[in-house]
Amino acid sequence: MLVLGFESSCDETGVALVQSEGTRLPRLLAHALHSQVRMHADYGGVVPELASRDHIRRALPLAETVLREAGRSVAEVDVVAYTRGPGLAGALLVGAGVACALGAALDKPVLGVHHLEGHLLSPFMGADPPEFPFVVLLVSGGHTQLMRVDGVGRYAMLGETIDDAAGEAFDKSAKLMGLGYPGGPALARLAEQGDAKAFALPRPLLHSGDLDFSFAGLKTAVLTQAKKLGETLPARSADLAASTQAAIVEVLVRKSLAALKESGLQRLVVAGGVGANRELRAQLDVACAKRRLRVHYPELALCTDNGAMIAMAAAMRMQAGVQQADKRYAFDVKPRWPLDAI
Ligand code: ATP
Ligand code: MG
Ligand code: FE
Repeated sequence: MLVLGFESSCDETGVALVQSEGTRLPRLLAHALHSQVRMHADYGGVVPELASRDHIRRALPLAETVLREAGRSVAEVDVVAYTRGPGLAGALLVGAGVACALGAALDKPVLGVHHLEGHLLSPFMGADPPEFPFVVLLVSGGHTQLMRVDGVGRYAMLGETIDDAAGEAFDKSAKLMGLGYPGGPALARLAEQGDAKAFALPRPLLHSGDLDFSFAGLKTAVLTQAKKLGETLPARSADLAASTQAAIVEVLVRKSLAALKESGLQRLVVAGGVGANRELRAQLDVACAKRRLRVHYPELALCTDNGAMIAMAAAMRMQAGVQQADKRYAFDVKPRWPLDAI
């Protein structure tokens, strides 16, 4: 079975083709991505209306690229999948509309999937796919959650951020250090040349005794430090970046270990854009090896938003029998949609 998936929840248009046979893990055949980052950069953040219009321009050409790369024709597609939520309403409607129109034109069934389930299942496309059950650390631009995962569609929330997401903490700190938007990757690069112990920044909720996170206070502490540095900020920005990254990473690592301990599970899966962070991976690798725990990551290119994870989530949901595609073509999107509610 061939599943063509569309991702359009925010500022990247992603399309991918996945092949699913019997009970074997579905296989990614091809994927293509267009990032709108440069288009939104002048505004310092994503402009929803511009995002929607650009998804319209990109979706079908990307689908043609994917089919060409996979050496398949559109008539061979069995199911069309799209991101149903959460995300920007207008952007989601483009992906849903394109997927349903394509499905109707081809007389093939369609299905909508949860964007975060896409992130969560993306490590199954990696070289070292996990096995259920596991704890997932979902760290993206809009979410920071620890969940217990017992199978496809079986997600129990263990803890989450009470304010900003980890990705937001990276981006907002980067912005006030003048590193542009979204500055997470730039801050991480700069941090490699800095001293992580240079500035003492808070580790919010580190000792809260639960599995929740908070990053809003950290951003304020970074701002205060930047103001204090004043004109000397440029000379110290690598140190400030390294100290900021160290604070975020330490909280993520410690809480992940606590979640594994509390749940009694031996396996950690990391997903979402911040999962691409090298320092986070290095520290998790060391901490998990020491405790004989396994840790799995998505391929670097599949950490941030992409169509592959949407096609993969659709294929895995159908394979597990938790959701089937249908020919109603009556799409609705869910801009707000908690993952443990699916
Ligand atoms: P959500 O999935 O919650 O709706 P999103 O789709 O915007 O949010 P992702 O695409 O998963 O989020 O991830 C984007 C985030 O990941 C941004 O905040 C970005 O700065 C961050 N990010 C990407 N690479 C790195 C890195 N190497 N280090 C730190 N942060 C990173
Ligand atoms: Mg993005
Ligand atoms: Fe995302």
